[in-house]
Amino acid sequence: MIVVLKQNPNPDQVEGLVNWLEGKGITIHRSIGENQTVFGLVGDTSALDIGLISALDIVEDVKRVAEPYKEANRKFHPEDTVIPIGNTTVGGGNLTLIAGPCSVESEEQMVGIAKAVKASGVTMIRGGAFKPRTSPYSFQGLGKQALEYLKVAKQETGLPIVTELMDISQLPLFDDVDVIQIGTRNMQNYDLLKAVGRQEKPVLLKRGMSSTYEEWLMSAEYIMSEGNPNVILCERGIRTFETYTRNTMDICAIPVLKKLTHLPIVIDPSHATGRYALVPSMAMAAVTAGCDGLLIEVHNDPQHALSDGAQSLRPDKFDILAKNLISLHNFTASLPPMQFD
Ligand code: PEP
Ligand code: MN
Repeated sequence: MIVVLKQNPNPDQVEGLVNWLEGKGITIHRSIGENQTVFGLVGDTSALDIGLISALDIVEDVKRVAEPYKEANRKFHPEDTVIPIGNTTVGGGNLTLIAGPCSVESEEQMVGIAKAVKASGVTMIRGGAFKPRTSPYSFQGLGKQALEYLKVAKQETGLPIVTELMDISQLPLFDDVDVIQIGTRNMQNYDLLKAVGRQEKPVLLKRGMSSTYEEWLMSAEYIMSEGNPNVILCERGIRTFETYTRNTMDICAIPVLKKLTHLPIVIDPSHATGRYALVPSMAMAAVTAGCDGLLIEVHNDPQHALSDGAQSLRPDKFDILAKNLISLHNFTASLPPMQFD
């Protein structure tokens, strides 16, 4: 249930309402915006009398929320979530560019790519240390050593690090990591989601390759309900009958999620297509559709990459793309807003 308060409500009456609700075992999620204060009520609201609450002087409107996700729901939190990370912010009209290799392979490789993508205008660097591979015989990542190389890349560039956590036991190694990525294969690993919900670093939550929007938002809810509000959603392509591309990029996720949730949404056209030549047009399409950022794989020598070389752009090609993405974002931001609902 959500309770929308009138502007400048009487503080004593607000406290009275809060105490009464809390006395009934309801947890209140307060969203205090510039124009509106919204209380999201979590708990068993079935016994609450909507008529009684609506009749209060301080209350503008009361609605039942049918969706099973509450904290991730835009109705609970009408304003976009904006997440500060290092010197940058994700959401709130910024275009976040995250780039780097699929896997961290050496210090030289990671630092070299980080410097190159920084010069192209990226705001965060990525690189996999723990790799979820389909085959146990494929390269599994350099693990702890890779985190050390990422730390050097961060020191050299000043850019925050995004890297994947595969297991709760790896969390103590993540002190220098800025954003924890939860991969597509772990989107419904609920113990892992709860663990990242109990710590403070922002989480980049990739969509499960066969998950619906609701399942994805319920996974975000697992993280948020443990106390971590800083979740970034990442669409990375879903499984369809098509085999030409690695996955099918669901661009519709952008407008749908903008409606359903206040969380920022980032698009990963590299895993969505599996082919580097398709990455630029899909990235441009995502910016046009209003994403908050892009996650793009870049490798200095894609032919010899230890993972995902086929979908990785060389730094010189990425440079052209990054500049076009930034120009396109500035252009779309200058257009009058379109609201058709
Ligand atoms: C990755 O980002 O390298 C990765 C493994 O992504 P996903 O979980 O989307 O496959
Ligand atoms: Mn990859």
